[in-house]
Amino acid sequence: MKKCDKCGRENEFIEENYGSEIITFCPECYAYERISCKHEKFSLVKYRVNNGFAVRTMCSACFKMFGGFIAQKDCEDVEKIRVILKEKHDKHHEEEYVKLAKRLDSLVHWSEEYHKTKWFSEHNEYLKSMTWQEKREEVLRRDGYICQACLKKKATEVHHLSYDHWKNEPLFELISVCDECHTAITEMDRKNSKIA
Ligand SMILES: [Zn+2]
Ligand SMILES: [Zn+2]
Ligand SMILES: [Zn+2]
Repeated sequence: MKKCDKCGRENEFIEENYGSEIITFCPECYAYERISCKHEKFSLVKYRVNNGFAVRTMCSACFKMFGGFIAQKDCEDVEKIRVILKEKHDKHHEEEYVKLAKRLDSLVHWSEEYHKTKWFSEHNEYLKSMTWQEKREEVLRRDGYICQACLKKKATEVHHLSYDHWKNEPLFELISVCDECHTAITEMDRKNSKIA
């Protein structure tokens, strides 16, 4: 069991290894993280090139090569450096990368869906609450039951100007609107926001 940094809950944290990157995923809050290998342990390797060998540094944990080429004259014992098959090596990393990209895509999607659904259900709960009903009535009364968007129609709904203080909103963050204006505003907000 591991504790999630985001939601603080202990759970069956998912950790998946994709070559030089690890993806962690919390099944409770759907937070995911992408952690790159720090290449702490490494050794020299060499692979064939047209005119001999190229020497590079390779991580002993993720087997990724990093840094530039190393001149053979700078190597202690070129003969002893392990030979790797460059094409096979690259192909493996390419495959891992494709797997990682696919997995990340679906995690991002799940996470967004989860938070959207969660937000909507909490939002609906709140709209049913006594606190909201009272605030709503006060705002309508303050605005004289006139839509503050068109200043023409009768206000029937209360709109959030900001969600910064959601559930604790000061009344200046709330405004009375008519059906028509509310629909139009919500439509515009939806296009610009991640929540809606
Ligand atoms: Zn979590
Ligand atoms: Zn590494
Ligand atoms: Zn209006």
